[in-house]
Amino acid sequence: MSKHVHIIGAGIIGLCSAWYLREEGFEVTVIDGGDINNSTSTGNAGMIVPSHFVPLAAPGVIAQGLRWMFNPKSPFYIRPRMHPDLLQWLWQFYRSCTPQHVQNSMHWLRDYNILSRDLYGAFAQKKSFDFCFEKKGLLMLYKTKQQQAEEWKHAEKAIKLKVPVEILNSDQIKQVESSIQTDVLGGVYYPEDAHLYPNLFIQQMCQALETKGVQILRNTQIESIQYSGQKIEAILDQNQQKYTVQNILFCTGSWTARLLKKIKHNVLLQDGKGYSLTLKNQAVRPKIPTILCESKVAVTPMGNDLRIGGTLELSNHSTQINKKRVQGITESLSKYYPELQVEVDNYEKVWQGYRPCTPTGLPYLGKIPQYNNAYIATGHGMMGMSLGPATGLLMKEVICQEKTSLDLDILSQN
Ligand SMILES: Cc1cc2nc3c(=O)[nH]c(=O)nc-3n(C[C@H](O)[C@H](O)[C@H](O)COP(=O)(O)OP(=O)(O)OC[C@H]3O[C@@H](n4cnc5c(N)ncnc54)[C@H](O)[C@@H]3O)c2cc1C
Repeated sequence: MSKHVHIIGAGIIGLCSAWYLREEGFEVTVIDGGDINNSTSTGNAGMIVPSHFVPLAAPGVIAQGLRWMFNPKSPFYIRPRMHPDLLQWLWQFYRSCTPQHVQNSMHWLRDYNILSRDLYGAFAQKKSFDFCFEKKGLLMLYKTKQQQAEEWKHAEKAIKLKVPVEILNSDQIKQVESSIQTDVLGGVYYPEDAHLYPNLFIQQMCQALETKGVQILRNTQIESIQYSGQKIEAILDQNQQKYTVQNILFCTGSWTARLLKKIKHNVLLQDGKGYSLTLKNQAVRPKIPTILCESKVAVTPMGNDLRIGGTLELSNHSTQINKKRVQGITESLSKYYPELQVEVDNYEKVWQGYRPCTPTGLPYLGKIPQYNNAYIATGHGMMGMSLGPATGLLMKEVICQEKTSLDLDILSQN
C-alpha cells in the first residue's frame, strides 16, 4: 500500500515538506484555507539569512520591546489583552531571554540556515524554478553609535561561529552599495546571505508539486479533527467534507496553536504580524538586501521590484492595518537612503502577514507525542522563509524515521 500524508498549510513549510515527501514516494495532499497567493510565505522580505543565528528570545530584547511599546511608529507592539495564552507565552519568552539560551541555539540555527540556503541553491538550478535567487549578502546599516555597538557584538559572535562578516565604514558602504546614496554611520556585511522573490518561489513550487502528482486543495479550511486513541482518523473542512487520514503534518503557521487544541495538544505560539510594500519596477533602489537596524526595516531588491517590510505586532490575528506603524516603515527609508521617498497613497496595497513566533525563538518540529500518525512543523518566526527547504527535508526524515540532517534534540526544551 502506498504511503499517504495530508499536509495542512501551504506556506513555505508545508510546500517544502510536500516536495521532499513526494520525492520519497509518498502520495501527498496539501490543504490550505486560503488561495496560497497571499500567505505569510509570499509577502515576506525574502531574505535567506545564515547571519541570523541568534533566536528572537535573547537578552536585551524585553527592555527594547518595552521602550518601543510607547512609540506608535516603532517596529514592535503587543495588542493589550489578558489572554492566558499570551500571558503564558510572555512568561516563557521572558524565561528564554538568557545568554545560555542564545549560546545553546547559535550553532544549530547557523547550520539550519546554511543547509536551507544551499537547498534553495539546488532548487534554483532546476529548470522549473526561476525565483530571482541571488547570493549578494546582507547589509546591516546603522546610524547611531549605540546601534553600532549592538551590530559589532553580533559580528563578533559571527566571527566565532565562522560566519563570514565584514565591518564597513560609511565610505566603504558607498562602494559596496553603489546603486543608491546612503546616509549612515556604517554597517556590517554578511556576504554569504542570499535573497529571493517569495511569491515566485511559492507559485513555482505549487506548479512543480502539481506536476509531480501532489494534490493541492485551496480555499479548504480544516475545522475539525477526529481521533481515536493514539491515531488521527480524519479531518473535516468548512463544508463538512471528510478526509480520511493515514499520516498528517500540521504546517499551519501562526494558526497552529488554535487548531491543535482540537486534539488536546498545546503549543505556545503568537502571531508576529508584519507589513510589506512592493514597489514595482523601482529604478532607484539598493542592489544589496539591507536591514535598517534602528528601524528594523528590511529592504530587498526582487527582480525589478523593491520590497520593504517591517514591524512585529503580537496582534491576535488582527487584520486591521496600523497606519502609524506603516508610516514608521516608510519614513525610515529616506533617513538611510535620502533618494528613496515613499508615501503610501492607498493602504489597501499594504500586505500583512503573521510570523509564527514561539517563546524560545526555536521552531516546533517532529512527531506529536500523543499520536502515532501526527507531526508538526511550525514556529519559525522571522526566519520561516529562510528555513523552509531544510524544514521540509527534516520533516521527511522524521516521518520516514531516518537519521535527521540536523540533530533535533535541542528542540526538546520547546
Ligand atoms: C513582514 C515580514 C517579513 C518577513 N521576512 C522574512 C525574511 O526576509 N526571511 C525569512 O526567512 N522570513 C521572513 N518572514 C517570516 C516568514 O514569512 C514566516 O516565518 C513564514 O512565511 C512562515 O511560513 P509557514 O509555512 O510556517 O506559515 P504560513 O506561510 O502562514 O502558512 C500557513 C498556512 O496554513 C494555512 N492554514 C492555517 N490554518 C489552517 C486550517 N485550519 N486549514 C487549512 N489551512 C490552514 C494558512 O492559510 C496558511 O496559508 C517575514 C514575515 C513577515 C510578516
